[in-house]
Amino acid sequence: MASITQRLKQIRAQIRDAEQAYNRQPGAVQLLAVSKTKPSEAIACAYQSGQRHFGENYLQEALRKQQELGAYDITWHFIGPIQSNKTKALATHFDWVHSVDSFKIAKRLSEQRSDQLLPLNICLQVNISDEPSKSGVTLAELSQLCEQVAKLPNLKLRGVMAIPAPQQDFEQQRQPYKSLYQAAAKLGLDTYSFGMTGDLKAAIAEGSTIVRIGTALFGERDYS
Ligand SMILES: *Cc1c(COP(=O)(O)O)cnc(C)c1O
Repeated sequence: MASITQRLKQIRAQIRDAEQAYNRQPGAVQLLAVSKTKPSEAIACAYQSGQRHFGENYLQEALRKQQELGAYDITWHFIGPIQSNKTKALATHFDWVHSVDSFKIAKRLSEQRSDQLLPLNICLQVNISDEPSKSGVTLAELSQLCEQVAKLPNLKLRGVMAIPAPQQDFEQQRQPYKSLYQAAAKLGLDTYSFGMTGDLKAAIAEGSTIVRIGTALFGERDYS
């Protein structure tokens, strides 16, 4: 408990420092705590230290934790790859989906989102390093997909999400975010879901409004 609380404090301080260093408005960057593979107890602990936004990658795991944490006022973000047969559950149980990369998926999410709920917040995932194996639309496809998704009634198109190929060098970390920001800035969006544990500062330098942090907060993940 103590360590998650301390790490949360450190990460918040890092975000504040980067906002200041790169002339961002104080509070412009929101922290999304990425809790995939971590137990509900870890989420509860971060919650008790004031964290409200949590990101999950695997649907079944997320649904189980949502049930365990039913009494908590958590905003749930889905950030993992999306299969069409999972859209109904995503549309029902999440507040945000960051990983939309086709009109087909967006349309299903809109059709399956209940009118009783607020529109589902959407980010379009862009494959910024143009790696063939990674999900996401290309920069060239982004504006058309944006136009189509913006018209869907039960979605609220918020912005873009990217997972660039990992780089050690700070300037190289900034490059993909810079190009994506420039392309997306013309599209009237308010959310840039940029940055993970390894490149948080570069992402904030290039306009991030949501950093998705797992390892720095909850420790290394064990997939065994
Ligand atoms: C796991 C994951 C993260 C968190 O990564 P860390 O390097 O552990 O901070 C962020 N975004 C996405 C899409 C992820 O799958």
